[in-house]
Amino acid sequence: MKELSIKTKSRDELVDITYSVQKTVGEEKINGGLCIIYCPHSTAAVTINENADPSVKDDILKFLRRIVPADAGYAHAEGNSDAHIKASLMGNSRIVPISNGKLVLGTWEGIFFCEFDGPRSRKLLVSVLGK
Ligand code: ZN
Repeated sequence: MKELSIKTKSRDELVDITYSVQKTVGEEKINGGLCIIYCPHSTAAVTINENADPSVKDDILKFLRRIVPADAGYAHAEGNSDAHIKASLMGNSRIVPISNGKLVLGTWEGIFFCEFDGPRSRKLLVSVLGK
């Protein structure tokens, strides 16, 4: 298992981590298998979506801000309930197949670290299973 460090710059943002994850997979020198990407934070997540047009990630963030307002009378005293809810909605892990030593993603797809309570220093765990 490898640990990637991610420094986020905004309260919420989608950070393209495709290159770093692929680099980790490449270091394992395997042909086929699975890559498990796990986010060990309760106010961050990991997702896969279009990476060609940056407005797609902007739209995702805009939509999440609309359906999960920052202040909606939440009980959690830390004041970041919206971030916890957004993290749960997006999910804390993804599994990507590996073929010929490469992540098998759709042509326009990328892997994104989803920050919902930044800016912060974060980590992401990447496990590669294969032979
Ligand atoms: Zn909290």
